[in-house]
Amino acid sequence: MRPCTHSYITFKAIEYLKVFKPDSCLLKILIPNQKDIFKYSGILPDMLGDCRRGHVFKMDHKPELLGLPYIKDKYKVGHDLLAGYFKDKKYTLALIKDSNVLNLPYKSNDKNGGKLPDRVEAIASNLIYGFRNGYYNDVKSIARFLFILSHYIADAHMPLHCDLRDKEIDGRRRLNRDIHLFIENFWESHIPNIDDLAGHNLTSNNIWLEKPYFNLNKLKPLGLNDTENIRREMIYISRISYAVSREYIKNDYRNIDELFDDIGRENFSILTDYLFTDAIQEVASIWNNTAQHFLAPTKTPFQIH
Ligand SMILES: [Zn+2]
Ligand SMILES: [Zn+2]
Repeated sequence: MRPCTHSYITFKAIEYLKVFKPDSCLLKILIPNQKDIFKYSGILPDMLGDCRRGHVFKMDHKPELLGLPYIKDKYKVGHDLLAGYFKDKKYTLALIKDSNVLNLPYKSNDKNGGKLPDRVEAIASNLIYGFRNGYYNDVKSIARFLFILSHYIADAHMPLHCDLRDKEIDGRRRLNRDIHLFIENFWESHIPNIDDLAGHNLTSNNIWLEKPYFNLNKLKPLGLNDTENIRREMIYISRISYAVSREYIKNDYRNIDELFDDIGRENFSILTDYLFTDAIQEVASIWNNTAQHFLAPTKTPFQIH
């Protein structure tokens, strides 16, 4: 995803917390540092040089493409388990509930698929233990880590970040390289411009989409889940993204108009809407989960000054 898209999701995650967890201590950390969102959520993670490994988790259901004789049955997770795990709160999963892909065993390519779930876990752990042990004791540093965390969580929601077809293997790609860029550029062009997002006086009223091609105003009170295992959560999100990719990006399109012609512009709009909603909610959820660990009473309790 592109910088404004990441920044937008991060801003909206703060909005989400304001509505559904208004008493969260996180808000005292995040809101005063909103001006850092564009740099730390939008730009920095992509400049760190780990895009190919850290920002993707590319899967397939064809064992030969994973370098395996077959894919074990434990990698057949299915709709019901995912829906149960996320308590039926993933919009994109609801959208593809009848997908045959969900019933197949599929997994990441260990060598070439990337390590996004590990990255998210590592950043969250770094935050939790770094804070507990006194390496980060200022609100600004914590906010910046949370913004970086948001970037990686959002990236797992981009379907092609979880689809091995969008990766060159043995000199061959199954999907046109540009379609990834077309989709991300399309989203980016519908997000408020950088100056507005990077502005210091951003309020809750001026971060809604300027061009309401897709509508994020329908965020619902979904609650925040209480998962313990952040890595597993990211794997499950990536599994949904893979199935979304196989359902919505079925062919090797040369440009976004070919994609629109095939699946319908309106369907792409709905998918975008659901996908962003899931991403925003997930960022808020994992922030919340992480904060429960570092805000929990420990030998060095956290004080907000
Ligand atoms: Zn991307
Ligand atoms: Zn990225």
